[in-house]
Amino acid sequence: MSIMKKIRIIRPEFVEFIPDDIKEGVLYISIRYNTATHRCPSGCGEIVVTPITPTDWTLIWNGESVSLYPSIGNWSLPCESHYWIRENRIVWARKWNIQEIEFAKDIDDSNKAYYFKHKKKNLDKVDKNRLK
Ligand SMILES: [Zn+2]
Repeated sequence: MSIMKKIRIIRPEFVEFIPDDIKEGVLYISIRYNTATHRCPSGCGEIVVTPITPTDWTLIWNGESVSLYPSIGNWSLPCESHYWIRENRIVWARKWNIQEIEFAKDIDDSNKAYYFKHKKKNLDKVDKNRLK
């Protein structure tokens, strides 16, 4: 067993397809498939997928570094890590307690429900365009 070592820097790599071999310390970004993937920087090495959509994560690329908003909370992983990716840095956030996790899930669910209720027409258009 290796000692769990927290990672503090993550390097963006723009790819068309997310590779099978996900290296630690790399944020693989596929603009084509609106998604990003990295290994949990806690040292547990679990793969974390962050879809880039209006209701999931927003990716900010400033030409040199990436940031992801909002924070990434891996409540379903044993490590329960919680961190931000800001300008290629892992900024560790404190662990949330169970009430905070439930509250965040509720907010997330209601945001998604609101978004899909009001944007469905636009999304239908986008989906049709993608099929062309
Ligand atoms: Zn982890």
